[in-house]
Amino acid sequence: MAPTRFADIAWPSARRYWIVNARVPACLLNDASAFTARDVEDQALADILIENGAFARIEPSSDTRDGLVIDIGGRQLWPTLIDIHTHLDKGHTVERGPNPDGTFLNARIATANDRPNWTMPDLRRRMRFGLRCAEAHGVSAIRTHIDTYPETIERSWPVVRELREEWAGRIALQAVSLCPVDLLTGDYGDRVARTVAQAQGLLGGVTRPAEGDHAATPANIAEQLDRLFTLAARHDIDVDLHVDETHDPLAASLPHIAQAALRHGYKGRVTCGHCCSLAQQSESDIDRTLDLVAEAELSIVTLPTVNLYLQDRTQGRTPRWRGVTVVHEMLKRGIRVAAAGDNCRDSFYAYGDHDVFDTFRQAVRILHLDHPLTIAPALVGANPSRIGKLEGHGSLAVGQPARFVVFNARSLNELVSRPHADRIVFRDGERLVTQVPDYDELIEQDEPAEAVRVA
Ligand SMILES: [Zn+2]
Repeated sequence: MAPTRFADIAWPSARRYWIVNARVPACLLNDASAFTARDVEDQALADILIENGAFARIEPSSDTRDGLVIDIGGRQLWPTLIDIHTHLDKGHTVERGPNPDGTFLNARIATANDRPNWTMPDLRRRMRFGLRCAEAHGVSAIRTHIDTYPETIERSWPVVRELREEWAGRIALQAVSLCPVDLLTGDYGDRVARTVAQAQGLLGGVTRPAEGDHAATPANIAEQLDRLFTLAARHDIDVDLHVDETHDPLAASLPHIAQAALRHGYKGRVTCGHCCSLAQQSESDIDRTLDLVAEAELSIVTLPTVNLYLQDRTQGRTPRWRGVTVVHEMLKRGIRVAAAGDNCRDSFYAYGDHDVFDTFRQAVRILHLDHPLTIAPALVGANPSRIGKLEGHGSLAVGQPARFVVFNARSLNELVSRPHADRIVFRDGERLVTQVPDYDELIEQDEPAEAVRVA
């Protein structure tokens, strides 16, 4: 029989059906033990029964399936994915707050200048736009950092709570407070921790001073971190930090974070994003830090597209390094690492579409996650699923809602080689017909009075 053309597959809309001949990376199966026959890319050929919107059976392929059977001809079937580090509140401000030279310093300044425009309607519009893009691309869980400054906290966090409710069942939304950690020292720290706890969020921050870029670690970093962990522990909330996002090897807050996590009983409860400068330190310093990271069970998130864009940027000079942290060395030690999208069409990163599959494709190239590609899919699937305790996202498991994506590719090589804009996304066993929103939808419409109440 001639192989089925992707465009000719009749996607089901039924309470019960089998998808057969699905090629699944073993690292994206919650339980791969039954799949003893795997190909050179550690992929399994699976038959999947979907019943009442959930995965009822996930088994090695056989030719004895009953009822409605959809043969996808050995094409890739993935769980819906997780973008574990984003900034939905900054997204799509690139025209309004342009970065004149693309550097980190000017990104910071442009964002601060634009923040007064972040009214509640403006935040809702841009964040919804981002969520709709992500959903259309097959993302079902997002952790977003939220700029949390005295002038924005009252606007951003109510919008986060509202959107989390509005999107429940479509995209699981986690939120992390973001401001320089030295801002948390006074009463404001109590206010931030309270706000975050009420919204069931994570306490975050960036380990650079309020008035400056990432540079040499401040002398009182341990004190600042003690304050942050004390606040987190008081409300029993997890921690997610922006760490050492610079080429400067003197920026070395990561080992201090590991030590603080151990001091405060936060083993396994802390995520650190970026950690770029670690890659610029000596091998012995890297080793020492990774020992601590492993001991404190810190999770690491690498943001390859944004690191590539922002790091080593000087106008008129060709960049000499890729900006990413030491991912292979971390994985080798068993440290949990995820890759995520970070900024999208704002002053920190001018491009993007909230498509973590695109982040994955770029991560493979930027970080050399290939030859073999075996474990690369876990960085946007199973690993962030564990980091965010996001069961049912990023990994296929019996009993979980049937959220998955089918790509017109058989091998991982075919998968990584094309953007796959024609991928088919399923939610609760039903094909999503949603498309990415038109950019027109970002245009400000007539807004309610609350828009003008902002000082
Ligand atoms: Zn970030």
